[in-house]
Amino acid sequence: MQLHNRINKEELKQRLMEETFSRKTISFYKYHYLDNPQEFRDSIYRDWFALNCFGRIYIAREGINAQMSVPEHYFDAFLSTLGNYGILNDIPIKYAVEDNGKSFHKLAIKVRPKLVADGLDDGAYDVTNVGNHLSGLEFHELAGKEDTLIVDMRNFYESEIGRFEGAICPQADTFREELEIVTGMLEDKKDKKILLYCTGGIRCEKASAYLKHQGFSDVNQLHGGVLEYARQIKVANLESKFIGKNFVFDERLGESINGQIISRCHQCGQPCDTHTNCANNSCHLLFIQCPECAKKHNGCCTPECIEELHGMGINGNSKAFQFGNRKRYRKSLALVNEEQKAQSTK
Ligand SMILES: [Zn+2]
Ligand SMILES: [Zn+2]
Repeated sequence: MQLHNRINKEELKQRLMEETFSRKTISFYKYHYLDNPQEFRDSIYRDWFALNCFGRIYIAREGINAQMSVPEHYFDAFLSTLGNYGILNDIPIKYAVEDNGKSFHKLAIKVRPKLVADGLDDGAYDVTNVGNHLSGLEFHELAGKEDTLIVDMRNFYESEIGRFEGAICPQADTFREELEIVTGMLEDKKDKKILLYCTGGIRCEKASAYLKHQGFSDVNQLHGGVLEYARQIKVANLESKFIGKNFVFDERLGESINGQIISRCHQCGQPCDTHTNCANNSCHLLFIQCPECAKKHNGCCTPECIEELHGMGINGNSKAFQFGNRKRYRKSLALVNEEQKAQSTK
């Protein structure tokens, strides 16, 4: 049998819409060494293709990260395939809350060098020696206590619009940079209780293992990330200690947790938490821009970009770059500072 999808997207979407059964949307991840990722990949592709599963699944030497939809009538059969593999046996599965079962229209399983790029060699530290997992409620209980440090393991464009109160939010553009900055900042706090969090938990799995390797003694992480925290807080009817928006990687670019806006427009400084990409596609900087500034500057980040946009006749934003050039995010902050300086010396 072939081990890749060959059918075109329109046809697949059409088939999904015409399905007469329901699907469950689930996700799971685990760091676990695999000797032969490609072999494992082909094997689960066979198993899950036979059960009409769809999804986006990444495999690396260090483990698996999966988002998928499984036909309800095959769900038990799917669960029993998990028992065939050491890595999947007893893996914690998360069930989507708002689930229409239409999130995926094909099965895509890819082998990658890493699950989360850390810029380090395989074996530089033991990625399976992770920190202590805290539930949303346990994390809530400990957050803000004396002698505990909350560390945001996401990039700065994420923490700028939403974060736990009192969290350390390094100005990092990549996970690799984040690891370096955090280890440096907490050099003399290796005996403190560290509480790590990220969007869905997978970055903290790795970060906690890295910090333990660096000699931190009490490393804890929010299991399931901010997404799971928000869910548990809502159920328990508690006041969120996460303020602002949770940045998510889809069209929304963020989900408000407590309705507060904690960031500002990079151009005029008024409260705003909407990320946008510079309308000049050759720039495509990701930055925070309010609706007024978007209008005033034609969706651009600088006068140069407005000029280029008009001069070259490029129209609008390409969806292909939906999430922007993240590496260029911080430059926009420098830009704000410059502007503010210029204004205050006037
Ligand atoms: Zn503005
Ligand atoms: Zn620009």
